[in-house]
Amino acid sequence: MNNTQYADILDSIATLRQIRGDSHFKSRAYENAARLIRKMPDQIEDLIDQGINPNKLDGIGKSLSAELLKIHETGESPMYKELLANFPDGILELTRVEGLGPKRIKLLYDELQICDLATLEAAAEGGLIAALPGLGQKTEDKIKAELIRLKNTSIDRIPLPLARSAGESIVKALEKLECVERIEIAGSIRRGRETSKDIDILVASTDATKDHELIFDTFVGLREIDHVQVRGETKTSARLKSGTQVDVRVVELWQFGAALHYFTGSKDHNIAVRARAKKMGLRINEYGVLRLEDEEYIASKTEEDIFAAIGLPWIAPELREGGNEIEDALNGTLPDLIDHAKVQGDLHMHTTESDGRNSIAEMVEKAKSLGYNYIAITDHSAFVPVTGGMTPDRFAAQIELVRRENEKHSDFTILAGIEVDILSDGSLDMDDVLLSECDWVVGSIHSGMNMKKENMTERLLKAMHSGHLNSFGHPTGRILGGRKGYDYDLDTVAAAAIQNRVAFEMNGSTGRLDLNAAMAKRVSSMGAMIVLGSDAHSTRGMDEMRYAIQQSRRAEIPAAKILNSLNAHELLEATR
Ligand SMILES: [Zn+2]
Ligand SMILES: [Zn+2]
Repeated sequence: MNNTQYADILDSIATLRQIRGDSHFKSRAYENAARLIRKMPDQIEDLIDQGINPNKLDGIGKSLSAELLKIHETGESPMYKELLANFPDGILELTRVEGLGPKRIKLLYDELQICDLATLEAAAEGGLIAALPGLGQKTEDKIKAELIRLKNTSIDRIPLPLARSAGESIVKALEKLECVERIEIAGSIRRGRETSKDIDILVASTDATKDHELIFDTFVGLREIDHVQVRGETKTSARLKSGTQVDVRVVELWQFGAALHYFTGSKDHNIAVRARAKKMGLRINEYGVLRLEDEEYIASKTEEDIFAAIGLPWIAPELREGGNEIEDALNGTLPDLIDHAKVQGDLHMHTTESDGRNSIAEMVEKAKSLGYNYIAITDHSAFVPVTGGMTPDRFAAQIELVRRENEKHSDFTILAGIEVDILSDGSLDMDDVLLSECDWVVGSIHSGMNMKKENMTERLLKAMHSGHLNSFGHPTGRILGGRKGYDYDLDTVAAAAIQNRVAFEMNGSTGRLDLNAAMAKRVSSMGAMIVLGSDAHSTRGMDEMRYAIQQSRRAEIPAAKILNSLNAHELLEATR
């Protein structure tokens, strides 16, 4: 299990204890621990594996530590199970309704026996919520609107980063087996879809008929597995304790490319590929490409072979959505996408100066290990207090500090930057002089997100025209699977960004993926510059750049149009 999964359990415990009516003091400890674990640079699992007791960590006491050790050992929390047994099944569903915290859920449960989304809806329709003390008509209307929003966002799909990290932890366990020659996560995760229904893992061995026993035994023995649904010769399906379904398939090494292509999909892409094969007198399935006249397989081993057999160059998984990819491949107009090797630097990250966990030097070291040539240090401005952001005095001192650090490196550039709040009136939360003096300004919204569309557009236009921004950070403020994000006229703001040479950020932070691929494609096609940022709050967070990379690939944006493919000098020229 990864840190997010541990933290989710602790958060649920805190919520359930508050609904039960425990003192806030007690549940607060669980909330704080969840926050701590979410931000930890190391995996709690690894620490425990190394024999480190979690109570060595600040803010984790004895009983919490015991609970974490139990989760580590058994994959589930006895306390969580016990709490959950006291309530009807759907009680935690209610936390998905924005505006319903534990206190309100307790009130609704105690007074109206509301215990899931269905009973909440019935009560709202019946006008019962408005009649409760302290809630009123406005709250009831808000709840009704939220219920409509939740109906439109499917609950059986999980956010990509969660799906991918759950899949990777299974891959990590299986690839240790000697018989495993190749292993990949396929399906929508490989294509980079924002949410996934399930996790598809494809394993190849040189003798699958013999090896599948060991591979499946290892898989179903993993502690994150709740129960096995189907176990066969080639495929085993199991449900994780988190509720997600995982399918593991074992294939022979010689057919790995065909199977990988087949199980990566999408369905529409596969249909288009099959149609093309048919026209050429071929058939394509999970074993390979077959000549119809003599039933002979002509390609199987690699994806490149499969595509070549039907006269196409390899098409990146992120493009396989059944759109224009086959036509583009035939015309030689597939975009030259960015990948990790082409990313020269990361332009959004936080250090201990605001709410990050690591120093500038540590971030530089990590950046070098990722092969970067530069980074921008962009700590918060002071407006939102929980970020511990910088006042002008502190920012001035930090610019100095970055300059001094930078002098220590001849082959690496540290840009002095800031993530400055775009305030409600569109002004920036920092001295103009300092903003001009530093190298890289990310402008972001962290407050006042519920503005009317016209007002939000005005606010952003003013920021775009400030003359200070290099990039517009997490440009919709959405939280993946949660908050919808603020409303503004994208085209109008994009036009102003282009005019003022402000790049739109694709933020790779796992909870965000913001801009999303569709909006990024839109602004990029208008001519806006795109910049990728990890928004790291620790050295480990810098790895989340991969999500920004993958989403930009889904948006079909060529590497040349992404600022991170430039060197530091070119980058500053482009946004100046
Ligand atoms: Zn931010
Ligand atoms: Zn940030």
